[in-house]
Amino acid sequence: MEYVTAGREPAKALRFFEEICRIPHPSGNEEKIADYLEAFAKERGLECLRDASNNVVIKRPGKGAPVILQGHTDMVSAVAPEKGVSDAKAYLAEHGVTPILDGDWLHADGTTLGADDGVAVALMLALLDSPEIETPALECVFTVSEEVGLDGAKALDPSWLQGRRMINLDSESMGSLTVSCAGGCRMKLEREFRPAPYEPKYALRVDISNLKGGHSGGAIDKPHTNAIWLAGRIAGLLRIGGSLAWIRGGEADNAIPRSASALVCYPNEALMLAAEKRFMDLLPLEVEGEPTAEVSVTRAEPEPSYADTEDLFELIANVPRGVQSKNEQQGFVVTSLNCGVIKSEGGKVTLTFALRSSIAAELEALKEKVSKCAESYGFSAEPGAQYPGWAYAEVSPLRDTVCEVWHEMTGGTMTVFSIHGGLECGIFCDRLPGLDVVALGPTTRGAHTPEERLYLPSYAQTWELIVKVLGKLTDK
Ligand SMILES: [Zn+2]
Repeated sequence: MEYVTAGREPAKALRFFEEICRIPHPSGNEEKIADYLEAFAKERGLECLRDASNNVVIKRPGKGAPVILQGHTDMVSAVAPEKGVSDAKAYLAEHGVTPILDGDWLHADGTTLGADDGVAVALMLALLDSPEIETPALECVFTVSEEVGLDGAKALDPSWLQGRRMINLDSESMGSLTVSCAGGCRMKLEREFRPAPYEPKYALRVDISNLKGGHSGGAIDKPHTNAIWLAGRIAGLLRIGGSLAWIRGGEADNAIPRSASALVCYPNEALMLAAEKRFMDLLPLEVEGEPTAEVSVTRAEPEPSYADTEDLFELIANVPRGVQSKNEQQGFVVTSLNCGVIKSEGGKVTLTFALRSSIAAELEALKEKVSKCAESYGFSAEPGAQYPGWAYAEVSPLRDTVCEVWHEMTGGTMTVFSIHGGLECGIFCDRLPGLDVVALGPTTRGAHTPEERLYLPSYAQTWELIVKVLGKLTDK
């Protein structure tokens, strides 16, 4: 077999990486790669466990208390439009990935590369295949279906693992260390409104569009305005003397909504004109931090509308939103929430929120706060399934060791940061009490897109870092 990365470092890991590229492994199709891992372990006489979902654990004996290394075998399927492929997953399941070397970067031929998280799989295989490198006992964990909801990590039997130190290899920037992640849940608020006691004759329509939006994990601390909140505020101002027919906005609970609309109806022209004037008085309306925002109020056809909707506007104005707490020392967001979607069907209005926190108690308190607020305006509140977070550990010998080795290698300081979203680490922390964990990985760009690429020098650094860290852990 020919390797496009021949002559590049880390040689052994890159060879395994290229082998994995030939084995199709989109999320949900991890059987072949699990077969490959099992055969790999068998050939080398290593202990191997495999479960019904195709999670695989391979163990290597060593010197000192076991260390868990972990990455996921599945990859996101995305294909460049010029390939003219309608089903990206089927295409990747059939063809696998063709890696192409471009200077220091490795990318694929018009598809995702699967460096996320094939680099972890390959690195663990290279270590398991290098008995000459002295390490503690290793428990290499290969999980499935990370990309579709951390399903493999959730299904894995924690009793298979004895280690209480874990290095997750699914971060995308060498030189930075992930040290915490958020847990969270969705929350649905709902209320049925009764029809308004008059027939609406006039109506004003509110439209908000072109806000910046962004992911409710990564962008929640940016000064981006939530379109649902803004539409609620403006419709609430117009509602006096009228009543709401409908309100809708947003697309997903985990995205900050960029647009929203509402229709407010009036029994007579005078009330509509008064409302219109209240809006005119606001002009020119500038939305802070949102130079491209478009906000309009236009006359529209009336539709059946509903009474007591001031409760909805009060709820939108008063329910907590955005960042709720930060880690002052490290500067990252600990707890936040985002109202991502609002819908109304007939008189029934539903709002969906994404709540996040790396600290379980703060998430509970936030759920409580949102529920109380919902109830006080006559809404029901229903939390959805919860995924666990990974709280920042004040004391982490593993984190200290990694930072120390990085300093020895580069003379620089490792930056530590927190992901305000779910990671497999959260599940492992929840299942393995007292787990000391860090997440790291080589520098990649364009994850989950056909532009995905891996910076080879950073992969060599990842290898060196892991080997040196494991070397230090042999006497602990
Ligand atoms: Zn990943």
